[in-house]
Amino acid sequence: MNRNIDLDSFPYVIVGSGLLGSVLAEQIASQLDRQVLVIEKREHIGGNCYSEEDGETGIECHRYGTHIFHTANEKVWNYINRFTTFNTYRHQVLTSCKGRMYQFPINLETINTFYNVNLRPYEVDAFMARVRGSAERPPANFEEQAIALLGPDLYEAFFKYYTFKQWQLDPRDLPASIFNRLPFRKNYNENYFFDQWQGIPQKGYTHLFNRLLSHKNITLLLDTDYFDIRHRLARNCTLIYSGPIDRFFDYSLGRLSWRTLRFEKEVIPMEDYQGNAVINFPESDIPYTRIHEPRHLHLERDYPTDKTVILREYSLPDNGDAPFYPIPSEANHRLLTQYRALAEKLPRTYIGGRLGDYKYYDMDQTIHRALELFEQSILPASNADQHA
Ligand code: FAD
Repeated sequence: MNRNIDLDSFPYVIVGSGLLGSVLAEQIASQLDRQVLVIEKREHIGGNCYSEEDGETGIECHRYGTHIFHTANEKVWNYINRFTTFNTYRHQVLTSCKGRMYQFPINLETINTFYNVNLRPYEVDAFMARVRGSAERPPANFEEQAIALLGPDLYEAFFKYYTFKQWQLDPRDLPASIFNRLPFRKNYNENYFFDQWQGIPQKGYTHLFNRLLSHKNITLLLDTDYFDIRHRLARNCTLIYSGPIDRFFDYSLGRLSWRTLRFEKEVIPMEDYQGNAVINFPESDIPYTRIHEPRHLHLERDYPTDKTVILREYSLPDNGDAPFYPIPSEANHRLLTQYRALAEKLPRTYIGGRLGDYKYYDMDQTIHRALELFEQSILPASNADQHA
């Protein structure tokens, strides 16, 4: 990292080297042929997609939670394949209940094992109608809606305590609308995603980000908080900010609330601990929500046969350091609308990404957002500047 660089010489400044920032840096550097400064406060690139090899086992771990790339968007798929190839991983999730593993989302295998029956697909509707019973009134909250769709047993086993643990909210205090899709499949399909294109970058996510940021017009400043150096940047630079929107305005209207995750890593002296990349633990007496075993993400690699890595995932309220999931409440929505109104008044400033938009985006949606921002705003503004 070069701290002697001339900060006020950059016409484009990007805050954050996650997917939003890295895709935009690549587009500006290659399409506009302009110098771009990328400022990243962490000691690594890649934002929450960052992956690294575990020092003891060589197993590639996703530091901020298992990331599976999946998309139905051909433009995004073609774009990202210029920088990486993907392996053939297909995501499947299991969920534990009283020491047994069940397929998740709930499918015919889950229902048959859970109830110890042997239903055919065309028998599921009648069976579930008996299990559910009839409600006395329309569902008024998440819990009632879930029971109306699944019956009390499956709801309690797979959703009730998981929701408590994940959001620290009583499901009776959540709106029914959150649970409005039929949460089970009447066949044996066990794919978590149905998108046409799926996989994990063959050489890992960090390699992908190194490629995105490798253009000669891109300068990267790691370990640097934008707010510590912003007074040294060119006053007329174009700024793309992918940090939290409330922080950008110094929390002047209040703070948006977030959930965060904590991961506890352990090396275990055996080849395979749980037989799957992700297992959910919805039970109330288990404090973590999931266990990740990253060796299963790269079946094409030669990993040690005497050791494996697992990461236990805990869900917590965020204290401002590591925002992960936006919380969809009325108060947050109102505050976000006010911050957005402030953002719209700023010249040459674009705020976006999962922290800037305060929105959960899958990776393909983030790439789409970045490409759209470039094509619809940054490129036209650059053309207008040239003709002014
Ligand atoms: P980020 O990756 O958060 O990048 C923002 C960057 O800005 C960070 O590096 C941050 O350090 C930096 N920054 C913030 N403030 C400053 C500042 N003041 N100065 C300098 N730098 C700053 N998507 C999928 O498609 N599949 C999955 O399986 C999947 N799993 C996920 C699991 C979890 C637990 C989470 C939280 C998300 C998951 N996602 C998944 C979503 C994916 O992580 C996001 O789509 C993507 O990371 C968003 O990129 P971004 O650039 O907007 O944000």
